[in-house]
Amino acid sequence: MRLLLTGGCGFIGSAVVRRLIGSTGHSVCNIDKLTYAGDPRTVASVADDPRYEFHQVDITDAAAVDSVFAEYRPDAVLHLAAESHVDRSIDGPADFIQTNVVGTFNMLEAARTHYDTLSGPAAEAFRFVHISTDEVFGSLTLDDPAFTESTPYSPRSPYSASKAASDHLARAWFDTYGLPTIVTNCSNNYGPFHFPEKLIPLVTIKALAGEELPVYGKGDNIRDWLFVDDHARALLTVLESGTPGETYAIGGRSERTNLEVVHAICDLLDDRVGGVGGDTGRSHRELVTFVTDRPGHDHRYAIDAAHIETELGWIPSVTFEDGLATTIDWYLAHREWWQPILEGTYAGQRLGAAS
Ligand code: NAD
Repeated sequence: MRLLLTGGCGFIGSAVVRRLIGSTGHSVCNIDKLTYAGDPRTVASVADDPRYEFHQVDITDAAAVDSVFAEYRPDAVLHLAAESHVDRSIDGPADFIQTNVVGTFNMLEAARTHYDTLSGPAAEAFRFVHISTDEVFGSLTLDDPAFTESTPYSPRSPYSASKAASDHLARAWFDTYGLPTIVTNCSNNYGPFHFPEKLIPLVTIKALAGEELPVYGKGDNIRDWLFVDDHARALLTVLESGTPGETYAIGGRSERTNLEVVHAICDLLDDRVGGVGGDTGRSHRELVTFVTDRPGHDHRYAIDAAHIETELGWIPSVTFEDGLATTIDWYLAHREWWQPILEGTYAGQRLGAAS
């Protein structure tokens, strides 16, 4: 297949690109605006492959999106480009509305125009996979059942509200225009190339520097965690075997409190580098400090992934413990990737909840 993928220089998009070029025969046209979160180094390992091409395109630019569709004529679309950080959405929601809502609208309209030119097997096989988050479902209490595909939407941050809006658009384009859209809602991802404003890389890097690890509230907010390569594999499964008009909730069945995650990182670092600054008598756990909670901080997210597990046969292949160890080892071995981000575009963020 010739796949048009948006946001392929970001955390998850780049994992999908690396998998597509490295482990399948598909071709990829990656369009990405290269915001602060987009980094071509994430796809450097596949960038010279003849099946890969990159175009710096802002999806809020409808004419630019239209011309990519007209020139590349994709067999399917994987739409991941988004503004993705909750704290940033609280500080400045405008970009989230533009990229996540207007940008998705542009992608759907361009896909519809393109789809209307297809017929026969090409039309039958065409898919528009819209990648979204579990945050659209709102917040759970400890006793609530996990989110499923039929959980009502209840977004509570500008980020999740903008993603919810885009999910509704994707479904409406299926029901109204017959565009074969599929929506996925995934839990928190972690793994290599995660931008250092998000919980796991930020805690790792701060701990290595011997800095305080400020955790929101009591650190008892709960997230479900999925290793990014398992998400990438789920998305390709949905692309190849999913049913148009359906939604697939994707998760790792690995609920952890933020404090448990931070402690697990500290313990791994204690094991790998000794204690703080190499002092084996001082655990990285001692760096944890509790700070005022984020406004509207959702308490718990959890995913019941039974639908994708039973219908499509996908299950996570990496446990949280193994995936976290792999991730920490990757950050230890790839200082050359994250150090320039800290020194350059990265301006420092509040810490405590991953988005
Ligand atoms: P990310 O912030 O790491 O990457 C986003 C990418 O989109 C970047 O490369 C950026 O340059 C690009 N982009 C942003 N605005 C753009 C625009 N206007 N035009 C073109 N490109 C633009 O995000 P991520 O964590 O890789 O998330 C990817 C998708 O998966 C998002 O849609 C997000 O909502 C969803 N998601 C993320 C998680 C998670 O835990 N990170 C979980 C579930 C779903």
